[in-house]
Amino acid sequence: MSESRVVRVAVPTPLRRAFDYLAPTGAPLAGARVRIPFGRRETVGVVLGATTEPGVAPHKLKRISAVLDEVPLLDGQSLAFLEWAADYYHHPIGEVLQTALPVLLRQGAPATVAGLEQWSLTVAGRALAVDTWKRAPRQRRLWEALAATPGLSAGALGGLSPGWRPLLAQWAERGWARVEHGDCLSVNAGPPVASPALTASQAQAVSALVGADTYRAFLLHGITGSGKTEVYLQAIARVLAAGRQALVLVPEIGLTPQLVDRFRRRFSVPIAVLHSGLNDSERLCAWLAARAGRAPIVLGTRSAVFTPLARPGLIVVDEEHDLSYKQQDGFRYHARDLAVVRAHRDDIPIVLGSATPSLESLHNVRQGRYALLELPERPGAAALPQVHLLDLRRLPLIEGLAQPLLKHLDDRLERREQSLVFLNRRGFAPVYMCYDCRWIASCTRCDAHMTLHRDVRVSREPPTGRQTPHAASRERPPRHTALLCHHCGAEQRVPARCPACASERLEGIGEGTQRVEAVLARHFPRARIVRIDRDSTRRKGALQGQLERIQAGEADILVGTQMLSKGHDFPNVTLVAVLNADQGLYSSDFRSPEHLFQQILQVGGRAGRAERPGEVMIQTFYPDHALFMALIDHDYHAFAEHALAERRDAGYPPFGYLALLRAEAPATSAALAFLGHAHRLAQPLMPERGVQLMDPVASPMERRAGRYRAQLLVQASQRGALHEFIRKWLSVLDTDPAAKRVRWSLDIDPVMLF
Ligand code: ADP
Ligand code: ZN
Ligand code: ZN
Repeated sequence: MSESRVVRVAVPTPLRRAFDYLAPTGAPLAGARVRIPFGRRETVGVVLGATTEPGVAPHKLKRISAVLDEVPLLDGQSLAFLEWAADYYHHPIGEVLQTALPVLLRQGAPATVAGLEQWSLTVAGRALAVDTWKRAPRQRRLWEALAATPGLSAGALGGLSPGWRPLLAQWAERGWARVEHGDCLSVNAGPPVASPALTASQAQAVSALVGADTYRAFLLHGITGSGKTEVYLQAIARVLAAGRQALVLVPEIGLTPQLVDRFRRRFSVPIAVLHSGLNDSERLCAWLAARAGRAPIVLGTRSAVFTPLARPGLIVVDEEHDLSYKQQDGFRYHARDLAVVRAHRDDIPIVLGSATPSLESLHNVRQGRYALLELPERPGAAALPQVHLLDLRRLPLIEGLAQPLLKHLDDRLERREQSLVFLNRRGFAPVYMCYDCRWIASCTRCDAHMTLHRDVRVSREPPTGRQTPHAASRERPPRHTALLCHHCGAEQRVPARCPACASERLEGIGEGTQRVEAVLARHFPRARIVRIDRDSTRRKGALQGQLERIQAGEADILVGTQMLSKGHDFPNVTLVAVLNADQGLYSSDFRSPEHLFQQILQVGGRAGRAERPGEVMIQTFYPDHALFMALIDHDYHAFAEHALAERRDAGYPPFGYLALLRAEAPATSAALAFLGHAHRLAQPLMPERGVQLMDPVASPMERRAGRYRAQLLVQASQRGALHEFIRKWLSVLDTDPAAKRVRWSLDIDPVMLF
């Protein structure tokens, strides 16, 4: 045993600790994967480091079965960051590593990629005449070799001609050749698109960003369309020129193919794009390319915050207010918050950008922790849209739409401009009800109404000839009607008779996007309508196709959910209508007004981005609400001021700190009973002041997918006190027998309180 050492290993298990093993000499001390016996199985763990105080008696220590990485997979810096995250979120380190590593690496696959750089001729390149090379024998040899194969690796090309690289770069520029990087890095083969001259405020922002070469956090607050992306692009260009890498986090890549394109067209360097659509080997390849520094730009969603970089230079978090940065199950981390911590640990600048910054980030600016960069105007002539409120107390609704709105939509059709109708509710009708006895279709597994869905065949196929898609739809009956639960996915047949009173007077009440689409099609039979929501974009590539149709001017009215509000540029949209703005005005979640304001401002920002000014019309029963007043003035700061004052009074974030203990169980009272027990266990551990436990309560939607849910909120005035208490509380809970009978989890800094 003298030749062995004891190491701490992170093992994929829900237990909140690491495990000790005997390691062979010469094995890396930290950051390498190892195969280990664990319980009755073998699994793959990551060595965290050596330990001199093993947690078990020496003779009970098990041996590592195999060391999988000669060179540590994670360097000390990355490993320390992950350990910090596990500690902060009180989450098992083994599961944190599961989140951070590509699935193939978790399974023990070698940390290598098969096909790397691969060069090939384009159609234009293949079509060149042989005598193009009359006076260039070296180039002719390369061309002939490439023409004879589908593609050649860098190694093969080097064997043919040592000076191949500048030549092929030239050919790529002319559109004759292209390079692919192991299928996972995308490179723009054409010449990079030139960057516009920056406005004064953009230039100021860029120079502030690149002026910092140590840690500094910036909040880039720019109204929609003010050129925030342009600021990122130019700052990144400077970072690349200095030989460093940029990590760019975006909310949902699938929703913003335009953004990825913009990065590709601007830079002629490989870009690693990490998103949920990648297969396992693509993800591994992109991750390795980032780690090796082969991808100067790494662009990804939430979990990309864990991607190791060889030479980190800048982190960008676009739309930093977006809720998708917070993981809502398992390891409940917040990618924006972790990105700031990471930048600090890597000692590099970070920029958080948004037209509607989170109150947390605005608060950090006021506290002097973040520097504020503002872009108050849109470049060029583009003006901000005018905001009008439609007072629903006075205006009758015609199937969900007020008369003045219909009139404005008609005007847009006349002027051949596009309109966008925003409604955050998919399906046909949110309620299906019996007019005789008031029976309402509800989910058998959730405390929720079923949504009526109708798969109307409008706006599916592009128009052919003079026929509008709507006219085409008249010839076919609706395909399929069903009741769906938006919470558990359950599907029910639509009853023809009321199950309670056998009446046939059943009807869908209220509007979802499908109904609005149908209503608009009836009002404007010649309009080409495109609906964008989760249902209409389910098929791979569907969203891309719809966005292309909109860009090409093949749509007059766009109807959709928040999918339409994110990041897209619709230059011909001059009218944005918000149908159900009141939802969220008086919700039980203290963050709802903030989210509502952000959503309306974001969707309104899609209007009037080009030369034509836009208009936003908001239907509401509360036209005097302060939130709408601030919206009319586009005054985010006024809104934030008001909202922050409310938060301060309530001791809510960013003025206080929250943790939420959630529990769920198949029996009605088990979850609540467990939280009551947890509440009692907490009493002797509570600090004298600074931490407060609320009473356990049933969750706002108590039953979901057949399980009863309850929650217990912990509120604290100091972060340190909160975490110290949580640590003690968890150590008691983790070993309590009652804790094994329900499913429970702890959410640090929760963003959704139900
Ligand atoms: P944001 O990210 O704030 O929504 P973008 O960077 O997408 O803004 O810019 C909005 C539009 O303005 C884009 O079409 C962009 O190409 C253009 N734009 C940005 N900066 C400039 C500039 N300095 N000069 C001219 N056009 C610009
Ligand atoms: Zn009935
Ligand atoms: Zn359900």
